[in-house]
Amino acid sequence: LTQLPGRELAAGIRAETATAAGELTESGCQPRLAVVSATSDEATAWYVRSIANAAARAGIACDVQRTNTSEGIRATLAQLADDPEIHGVILATPLPGAPALSPGARLANLATSIPLAKDVDGASPESLGRLLAGLPAFAPATAEAVLALLDHHEVELSGRRVVVVGRSVVVGKPVAHLLLERDATVTIAHSRSAGLPALTRQAEILVVAAGRAGLIGTEHVSPAAVVIDVGTNPTSDGGLAGDVDPAVASFASLTPVPGGVGPVTTALLLRHVVRAARNAAQGS
Ligand code: NAP
Repeated sequence: LTQLPGRELAAGIRAETATAAGELTESGCQPRLAVVSATSDEATAWYVRSIANAAARAGIACDVQRTNTSEGIRATLAQLADDPEIHGVILATPLPGAPALSPGARLANLATSIPLAKDVDGASPESLGRLLAGLPAFAPATAEAVLALLDHHEVELSGRRVVVVGRSVVVGKPVAHLLLERDATVTIAHSRSAGLPALTRQAEILVVAAGRAGLIGTEHVSPAAVVIDVGTNPTSDGGLAGDVDPAVASFASLTPVPGGVGPVTTALLLRHVVRAARNAAQGS
């Protein structure tokens, strides 16, 4: 089986981040993240806990704020925006809000209340717009994690045919953009794409972020392709499954779930918090 693990890369990023966090704390600036959570479902609770644990291990303070209405979220975000002790703010999904808005639009809409400097998961329309325009901003950590994994495993991107399955604001679109910036030739597929297996078989690099366990089977992948599985689907036994059939790893390179994109995402998020804290300490 050819696996493209993420844990080693994540551990390296976390170690670097812990050192930087320690230095900042010693100089009088304790890096601090706030996680705003509006739901208490098991998957969200697990995600929030894992961020809080990873932050604690890296020497980053982490406050979890719970509220269950859009108004509550806005009020909490406004207070966090003004709090000089808070360097990074993330909103855990799913979120309440106007049913007319897609989940991605709901996140972007609420995230308008996160100042650019504290938007460590690149969730606000301002961060996303700046990313698209090539201006400095934090990229969504999951999208950045996909690129970090490809770089870590020395996968050439320039000129390569890449298919991204999924077009969410949180993952699909930003990851497609980051790949394009690296000179890949990018196709974005979604639930209305016709002939998905033939389309994805054209990919030298396939990034899957659909949130559908087993969506991508062996018939969707060409031999020797590199497959990044972003999907995290809870299984009945309390585990986690990706969007890609693990059998794909018998003839292509595949990131494992768990242990692939997930730990790298968390590590990058914490790196962003330390960067935000350093920027704040330097008054920029
Ligand atoms: P999302 O907002 O539900 O978007 C899913 C995307 O997949 C949509 O664009 C959808 O197409 C597409 N899709 C759904 N079914 C499809 C099908 N049968 N064929 C082709 N495309 C299909 O989800 P998300 O927030 O992007 O998250 C995607 C997955 O990544 C989830 O499993 C999530 O848990 C996981 N995730 C993991 C991390 C991590 O760190 N590992 C972080 C964030 C998210 P339409 O647009 O046409 O509906």
